[in-house]
Amino acid sequence: MSKQIRVLVTGAGGFIGHHLVQRLSAEGYWVRGVDLKYPEYCASDANEFEILDLREFANCLLAVRGGITQVYNLAADMGGIGFITAHHASIARNNVLINAHMLEASRLQGVERFLFSSSACVYAQSKQKNAEVTPLREEDAYPADPEPGYGWEKLYAEELCRYYSLDHSLETRIVRFHNVYGPLGTYEGGREKAPAAVCRKVALAKEDDAIEIWGDGEQTRSFMYVDDCVEGLIRLMASGYRDPLNLGTDRLISINGLVDIVSGIAGKSLIKRHDLSKPQGVRGRNSDNSRLREVLGWEPKIALESGLSVTYGWIEHELEKAGRTPKVSTARA
Ligand code: NAD
Repeated sequence: MSKQIRVLVTGAGGFIGHHLVQRLSAEGYWVRGVDLKYPEYCASDANEFEILDLREFANCLLAVRGGITQVYNLAADMGGIGFITAHHASIARNNVLINAHMLEASRLQGVERFLFSSSACVYAQSKQKNAEVTPLREEDAYPADPEPGYGWEKLYAEELCRYYSLDHSLETRIVRFHNVYGPLGTYEGGREKAPAAVCRKVALAKEDDAIEIWGDGEQTRSFMYVDDCVEGLIRLMASGYRDPLNLGTDRLISINGLVDIVSGIAGKSLIKRHDLSKPQGVRGRNSDNSRLREVLGWEPKIALESGLSVTYGWIEHELEKAGRTPKVSTARA
């Protein structure tokens, strides 16, 4: 890999961005990371790391200066279902500003390829009403009926990418992530996603304790380990594919099932206490990977049990370091 390829990763202080920077740096790319904050759990390997607020256009111009040819635009105001359902206005405003300014700055600075991180939250809610959901194909985003706030803003930014590609010949790539998890991600505070929240609750519980599950736990999702996510991102950037593409696994599992796997990894027998007053998002969501296989000749392959074992081990260790885990740890991982 040539050192000449200069890459910008926005959101490099966040979960996926940090893992992507580590991988790109290891492969010999020259990498600039930009975020509002440095990575929380591990230093970045980026050649340069700058703290910039990308809602400001001048900062976006700075972020892409100096011969950057590829942009992975991962910066976003986001979080788990509790967070994205409680802050529609600020999430939509912040992310519209980041994406519109980053596209225009990339165009002006002569960037060759721009990858936008969209989300499975763009899919029509009416097609996700059953736990045994039909896996979602890329065309299922229309007629538009996405998640309020976060989903609408992602769908609009996908369109903006298409306009920049058509009007300005900017090579855009659009990835729709389905629930990414792994170590070095937020696991508490409100922005964490379900796998990290479940790992934290299980790690903090003693044998036979009850842990709180949002909803009845029968809602279903598919989950992708972060190493697969990074592999898919690099493959998509290298491809010639301009339309939105799913990136996730197609193994559907309920939240109760997820809790059982994590409890098994921890070697704990726990009681599930379901809180039906908490948001649970759509009833079922899964990825149809037909197009992903066709376009990239590849799909995510890391087993949920393996990925959760690493993730649980890391979160448990973080809590142990802070003296917060029960005295006798029963963990096997
Ligand atoms: P994350 O919250 O860990 O990372 C996002 C980063 O963007 C954060 O570090 C945050 O500080 C930064 N950011 C926010 N506002 C900014 C601003 N104004 N200027 C500069 N930086 C700013 O989230 P993640 O899980 O790493 O997600 C990365 C991308 O993937 C996001 O666009 C997200 O919407 C998308 N996505 C993630 C998932 C998932 O399961 N993790 C699913 C669907 C889509």
